[in-house]
Amino acid sequence: MSENKAPKLDFIRTIVATDIANDKNDSRLVTRFPPEPNGYLHIGHAKSICLNFGLAEEYEQGVCHLRFDDTNPAKEDTEYAEAIKEDVKWLGFDWGDNLFYASDYFDQLYDYAVQLIEMGKAYVCSLNAEEVREHRGTLTEPGKDSPYRDRTVAENLQLFTAMKNGEHEEGSHVLRAKIDMASPNMNMRDPAIYRIRKLDHHRTGDKWCIYPMYDFTHCLSDATERITHSLCTLEFADHRPLYDWFLDVLQTRDHPQQIEFSRLNLTYTVMSKRKLMQLVQENMVNGWDDPRMLTISGLRKRGYTPASIRDFCKIIGISKRDSSTDMGILENCIRNDLNPIAPRRMGVLKPLKIVITNYPEDQEDEIICKNHPKDEGMGTRTVTFGRDIWIDRDDFMEDPPKKFFRLGPGREVRLRFAYLVTCDEYIKDENGEVVELRCTYDPESRGGSAPDGRKVKGTIQWVSVKHGLDCEVRLYDRLFKSENPEEDKDVDFKENLNPDSLQVLTNCKIEPSIANTKVDEQIQLERVGFFCLEARTSTPDSIVLNRTVTLRDNWAGKQGTKTPKMNKK
Ligand code: ATP
Ligand code: MG
Repeated sequence: MSENKAPKLDFIRTIVATDIANDKNDSRLVTRFPPEPNGYLHIGHAKSICLNFGLAEEYEQGVCHLRFDDTNPAKEDTEYAEAIKEDVKWLGFDWGDNLFYASDYFDQLYDYAVQLIEMGKAYVCSLNAEEVREHRGTLTEPGKDSPYRDRTVAENLQLFTAMKNGEHEEGSHVLRAKIDMASPNMNMRDPAIYRIRKLDHHRTGDKWCIYPMYDFTHCLSDATERITHSLCTLEFADHRPLYDWFLDVLQTRDHPQQIEFSRLNLTYTVMSKRKLMQLVQENMVNGWDDPRMLTISGLRKRGYTPASIRDFCKIIGISKRDSSTDMGILENCIRNDLNPIAPRRMGVLKPLKIVITNYPEDQEDEIICKNHPKDEGMGTRTVTFGRDIWIDRDDFMEDPPKKFFRLGPGREVRLRFAYLVTCDEYIKDENGEVVELRCTYDPESRGGSAPDGRKVKGTIQWVSVKHGLDCEVRLYDRLFKSENPEEDKDVDFKENLNPDSLQVLTNCKIEPSIANTKVDEQIQLERVGFFCLEARTSTPDSIVLNRTVTLRDNWAGKQGTKTPKMNKK
């Protein structure tokens, strides 16, 4: 066996490596990421971005273009194009000078269409949409030729020019490729290549009132940019014969190779832009960048890092198999990324006051807290301790079971990094709710260990009543409650939204150092989860934290303990 175990290449990387070894395309490698600027990018796009830009990075000569497929003026907007650029950059990729727009090729595409007409390979068809459908046939029956199929070249040229000049109404004519109405592949049954749309385009303004169709535009844009490997998702496999047909008939200098891979599907979410758009427009979420959305901008707001998304794409890999990826895998990627680097802080989401009766009222104590349980390099901070302390309501039980190692009447617990305290008394309000605990501390236990070596199992976090800050915490959870929200075709996917996907807690208490957290910095609230600052609503005086992810997978089949244990020291 060889010493260097080469990593196993996926099937696309194998093809590329072989092509380069064989000097195909003069050893060039040019890929492209071709978004349509009609919505925001989502985690599925990240898979394609990581593949196309990632491949280009793996070879010295590799280049990846960012090309906007902007052929549908009805749905596209510069707002989307700008957001897409920002997202690709944020993920860590760079197109350099290679930013293109399909609309840059409108003149050239028009010339190609004229060439097809002159070759007798395209014709203007004047059937209406309904008639076109009737002529198309079905998967089992061949289609019928359009009565306009045999128009002369001169007639077609004259009509196509008139279409371009705005002399015809929308829907009155389309330019179609003349291929084969009996083809078993529906895409080859004289597909439309140009249609009349009397709409301004966000880049070309009112210059055009005819617009090229996707299949025609895409392959010719690829060829024009001298793309070598045109990577797309599986649903385009049936379009490949058409992709090749246009390039063969027009004898373009380059003929990129289209290769299909399976798209990313994730459990507990919907992925299509159309459905994400519905959630936004019907105010089911707070915009495209709502932290519950699986858009790149939503994930960013949620506190996901670019590295965690790139890791995720690496882990899921590239194949031709259709499958659904467990959302837990994505969540684990962000946990694994943040765990070694996120500074630890203390905060309590549901505060319960404890008064340490034997601690002098006017005394304070600067407690040294480690910023990370494993990484000494991350240093320490001091947190002020005093007589009145907040702990989390869930860390006290009036009548705790044996295995509950936190506070209960007569029980002793460790306040993280500080002291051991024992609960002597609890006070209830008129509704019978516990509102305060009275405890005593062991003055000899500074740092958290008992002088006599007695064992205290539980450790809980705390915040000083005098020094702690108020904070709002947004607990985000999965947006859908069912694994596959689109499974039942008779039920609107929105019926499957998780009603508890956002829980807002006000009046949480956090240690003062959290006020210095930066917008793109993640922290771990010990025992609670990973959090980031909510940039839109936080101010220096009013802090809002977004939960990125819990410390453990609460959705996993096995029932975990509800509050995760404190990391071992
Ligand atoms: P959607 O279906 O969400 O509307 P789309 O395919 O229409 O997405 P485009 O802007 O056309 O969106 O996509 C740009 C690129 O991203 C395409 O090459 C497409 O194949 C790829 N892509 C889109 N969704 C996924 C996905 N779920 N997994 C992998 N690649 C994807
Ligand atoms: Mg698309």
